Amino acid sequence: MFSSSDITLLKKLKKRTLLDIALTLPQSYKDTTLSKDIVDGRNLVAKVEVISARVVNFRLQIVLYLIEFNKRATAIFFKTTKYHKDLFKEGSKHIISGKASYFRGELQITQPKSIKSFGEITPIYKTVLKEIDIRALMKRYITYDNLYNTGLLGSEIDTILMLHNPKNITEIKDRSEYRAEIIQNLKSIEAYNHLAKFRKKRVYNKPINALKADLDIFLNELPFKLTKDQLSVIADIEVDLNSTIKAAKRLIIGDVGSGKTMVILAAAMIANRGKSILMAPTSLLANQLLEEAKKYLSKFLNIAFVSQKVTEGEYKDADFIIGTHALLYKDDLPKVSLVMVDEQHRFGANQRSKLDALVRDNDLSPHYLQFSATPIPRSQALIESELIDISTIKILPFKKKIDTQTIGKSDFKQLLKHIESEIKDRHQVLIVYPLVESSEEIPYTSLTDAITYWQGKFEGVYATHGKDKNKDEVLIEFRDSGNILLATTVIEVGISLPRLTTIVIVGAERFGLATLHQLRGRVGRYGIDSYCFLYTNYKEPPQRLKEFSKTLDGFKIAKLDLKYRSSGDLLDGTIQSGRSFNWLNLADDEDIIALAKDRVKLLTIN
Ligand code: ADP
Ligand code: MG
Repeated sequence: MFSSSDITLLKKLKKRTLLDIALTLPQSYKDTTLSKDIVDGRNLVAKVEVISARVVNFRLQIVLYLIEFNKRATAIFFKTTKYHKDLFKEGSKHIISGKASYFRGELQITQPKSIKSFGEITPIYKTVLKEIDIRALMKRYITYDNLYNTGLLGSEIDTILMLHNPKNITEIKDRSEYRAEIIQNLKSIEAYNHLAKFRKKRVYNKPINALKADLDIFLNELPFKLTKDQLSVIADIEVDLNSTIKAAKRLIIGDVGSGKTMVILAAAMIANRGKSILMAPTSLLANQLLEEAKKYLSKFLNIAFVSQKVTEGEYKDADFIIGTHALLYKDDLPKVSLVMVDEQHRFGANQRSKLDALVRDNDLSPHYLQFSATPIPRSQALIESELIDISTIKILPFKKKIDTQTIGKSDFKQLLKHIESEIKDRHQVLIVYPLVESSEEIPYTSLTDAITYWQGKFEGVYATHGKDKNKDEVLIEFRDSGNILLATTVIEVGISLPRLTTIVIVGAERFGLATLHQLRGRVGRYGIDSYCFLYTNYKEPPQRLKEFSKTLDGFKIAKLDLKYRSSGDLLDGTIQSGRSFNWLNLADDEDIIALAKDRVKLLTIN
């Protein structure tokens, strides 16, 4: 619909769609309609006659008669030029525009301009384009018909037309009720535009194979019943993998401990002889997946394992290949019908693009399932699900019992007692420090400084951190024979530690809620009573920590996280794909996004 010269302008503006342009609003308006009244401090546009003009102290002083107000006013100029002297001759008539104010009861107009055309409200756009170009562009495209054709609703169209071309400046400035409606409409247009763009962006590939299997033998042999959510996600996947038209592209989100591995194994069962690959971000995690796969699947499938250090089984002939990113560097991988990635967001950008290449096989693609333990708020899921199908696992197989408390220095003795008694019960404790080495900026003990203290007090104290080369060995040793593990947030990607019942997070206010939630998820995974202590130096712990303490639900926490982030509480860098909007606020506008989503569904994509 755009002419090629306009497309060049749009590129400069970095805009693509008509609604992108519609949402490029004027920053202000030049109002040359005659004022109805004189308001102190506001711009005044009025018909005047110059009564007298003289220079006082090198300044031009002009007395004006405001014809329609039957009032006198003094015009003040900061700099007197010949131009002004010639323009405002005694007896001359003008339409002037300038700021009105009262000084010692006397009306003054500061730096008035004599304007030729009046009765107009001109929008002022602040963009990279010349004023004249952007205004012309708006005139050409921002029309009722164009907006209607994008699918906007009547009141949204009115809002856009009014903002680009107000008939009356008070429409925008003075009526606050009206203002709320305008903002509501802008939010809704922004959501609609964003979703429509995503919808058009999504591409579907043909699958290599349509896959189908009877899962009953597998399910019946499990030592437990799958949860309702696990079963419903598996049902989604069965439908996906059975398609002959679209290769699946699905993200499965479930909190730590929600039982995603069983879903992965069920998917491998569906792929069966069609072959599948499962990739994990660390060899520890990959090994854990291998162990579970062997336990539940070796009867049905031929399993192979590939990491940088080991290759187990003949991966070229296997039905199910499990491994780390080392898989991405094998040039003799067999063609598989299903690719799965666990904890996908922990892969580096490089590996991710290799992964994409792996699942994009010309026109034919393997089905692609990603698994993530990072819950996202519903508003974000509504948006992302335009690009990728999303399934969530909300209920956990074990009800988690984690008592969360914020504590400070005065509670330390109590904490030591608690740790002693947990160790007596053969439970384990994890203490997370904000730093490896101490720093002036962070008023907490560092991991390095803490080691001596804890080793002096307890047996079986281990320590590790992100850059520690022996991290995996330390973790395994701790799992088997440790009491206390001192660590940084590295433990986020960990192995499961069934005896771990207490986590202490030092300087908890320094971490984002998403990180705290991941950390807390390390304990209480098997239904044993567990504890999370948020240690802070703050006398009054921040509100978000208190709210965090009240819930274990990752999806609620994701929403809380948004709420506090958008209120300017940005403490660490674990930001979840933060798309920025001008009007929409992901924390508050879930309903608006949901409505826009329903409308976008009606769009036909060509
Ligand atoms: P996730 O990968 O989602 O963090 P896991 O798949 O590792 O979680 O599951 C956590 C634990 O729960 C594992 O020990 C697993 O065997 C167990 N588990 C999974 N599903 C169920 C279930 N439906 N009932 C009981 N235990 C389950
Ligand atoms: Mg997992």
